[in-house]
Amino acid sequence: MGLIVQKYGGSSVADAASVKRVARRIVDTKNEGHDVVVIVSAMGDTTDELINLAEQVSPSPAARELDMLLTAGERISMAVLAMAIHDLGVEARSYTGSQAGLITDSAHGRARIIDVTPGRIQSALADGAIPIVAGFQGVAQDTKDITTLGRGGSDTTAVALAAALGADVCEIYTDVDGVFSADPRIAPKARQVPRITYQEMMELAANGAKILHLRCVEYARRFDLPIHVRSSFSAKNGTFVVSDSSVSEGEAMEQPIIAGVAHDLGDAKVTVIGVPDKPGEAAAIFRALADAEVNIDMIVQNISTAATGRTDVTFTCPMSDGQKATAALEAVRQQIGFESLTNDDGIAKISLVGAGMRSNPGVSATFFEALAQAGVNVEMISTSEIRISVVTRAESVATAVQAVHTAFGLDADGEAVVYGGTGR
Ligand code: ASP
Ligand code: MG
Repeated sequence: MGLIVQKYGGSSVADAASVKRVARRIVDTKNEGHDVVVIVSAMGDTTDELINLAEQVSPSPAARELDMLLTAGERISMAVLAMAIHDLGVEARSYTGSQAGLITDSAHGRARIIDVTPGRIQSALADGAIPIVAGFQGVAQDTKDITTLGRGGSDTTAVALAAALGADVCEIYTDVDGVFSADPRIAPKARQVPRITYQEMMELAANGAKILHLRCVEYARRFDLPIHVRSSFSAKNGTFVVSDSSVSEGEAMEQPIIAGVAHDLGDAKVTVIGVPDKPGEAAAIFRALADAEVNIDMIVQNISTAATGRTDVTFTCPMSDGQKATAALEAVRQQIGFESLTNDDGIAKISLVGAGMRSNPGVSATFFEALAQAGVNVEMISTSEIRISVVTRAESVATAVQAVHTAFGLDADGEAVVYGGTGR
């Protein structure tokens, strides 16, 4: 007997039949003797459809109103799910994020949770009812307006609520069997990973793996809350995301060195050409980008040629920030004195992630040899303690991921089952 928080993604509650199937699963968990709190995403593609509707009505919808509109998606799922549970003879009560005590800042569209006050959820549990909470939303502490946490934010709602309630585990239900060693859609030999550490999962999520919202993993790590990512379409165990220290010394020996290979096609590469090689130039460039709220990822500065006394500075940022970045830099071109700018959308970022990298020499050599043998040209390199990332041409993405996956012995014996899922 424990407290289990379950989050069901949009593909798990896509239509009436799915809602009933999920209701059954929730009631089964309750009947096993657990307390259950449920978080739901909007049904199927509802969020995309609502965004589309807003864009038809207004070219740039007001952020406050867009949030109000989008939160309606999750309100539909929570209400119908509660109805389906009632029909199975169990009491369920639906709550909006605000009612469930999800208090956020007022940054519409990307609000951060600043407090969780789940009093109503606790009373519902005390009454023996199953609380159903609308994911991805909260209420701003200062303005009292309704906010959303950013796309995919229901994962974060689930983990935040699980932490505040002191749950034993947060189960994230999706349409794939768990976390994979690479995206099975481009690496058919990807295998499901039974266990992964928070740190590895954060690196994968931050580098393009779509399975879990990055902030949800950060949150789980902070509160040391285990996450179980699994399919709502099967009873199989999925992937447990656990703390680094919960892997004991003995087990650590058997842990694979590499957790997985992530890829990201969502970045752009911007190069500032002919930057005078003197103190303060990089500062001026990145100040201009920061003021324009451009999120920078990798940065490389080329060696300056003695002849010209100039250098090139290259960085990557989300493709959607590319225009903003070049506009911000154009505005300070005179002041900085650089020659020109290029903005390249045709790139992919490939990242190898594994906690075992720390203590195993030769990982970089194997990684670059695999890329070389596959004929993949490397344009940029960056590393963290447990990650190596490269930028390549977008066309090379599948070749590169497969080559690296094979080189590190990650290939499964058979082909991964791809349910054609969206991973939501
Ligand atoms: N419905 C929202 C989205 O599609 C939130 C979520 O699914 O987590 O992004
Ligand atoms: Mg999701």
